[in-house]
Amino acid sequence: MKPRLYLILLLFVASVGVLVWLYAGKAFVPRKHARSTWHEIAVDLEACGRRKHLKARQYERFAEIAAAEGRTDAERIFRAIACSEHLQEQNLAAAIRRLGGEYQPPREIALHGGDTDENLVRCLAFERNRYARRSDAEIRRAMSRDNRYAARLLIWASAADLREIQLLERRLEVGPEQLAVCPVCGNLYTVVWLDRYCPHCLTPDEAFIHFE
Ligand SMILES: [Zn+2]
Repeated sequence: MKPRLYLILLLFVASVGVLVWLYAGKAFVPRKHARSTWHEIAVDLEACGRRKHLKARQYERFAEIAAAEGRTDAERIFRAIACSEHLQEQNLAAAIRRLGGEYQPPREIALHGGDTDENLVRCLAFERNRYARRSDAEIRRAMSRDNRYAARLLIWASAADLREIQLLERRLEVGPEQLAVCPVCGNLYTVVWLDRYCPHCLTPDEAFIHFE
């Protein structure tokens, strides 16, 4: 009996040892991995935030030009897009801070001028070209590392780029339209096709910012 008891005791001690080793290994490796993962995701968020900042500033400039030309319809779409881009940038900056990083928007910006008709065509060409060349690598990176918060913001940012193309196309085909922006996520709408709740963030439509 005794050797059998010793054997059982030995197996028990060995099992506990293996469990402790596995736990220690698991607890240590992800922490180390997590630091580099958060850093990479913060870099992706910052790149997106800076891009959104540039777009917001450029669309504000186009809105000023349109206002000076008395083109209120074009001014409205430029202002709505600028507002949407600013909100997205704010969300991305907040996410970077939550990951322990700091966000700095670009300091020196060269803005395009031109007249409003030229700017409408230029914007559509630019947005289409950029969207066609997108890789979505940053979204896949956030998803693969299980950072759904960052992935959601990056998906909203990409969806907004597409929505802007659709609105600029509609502006050329249908003509002037009233627009609305979700104040939480920056989602853009034509007032004709206004959701009752923002499908991105569930904000009710009475909170939307209107550009009429
Ligand atoms: Zn929303």
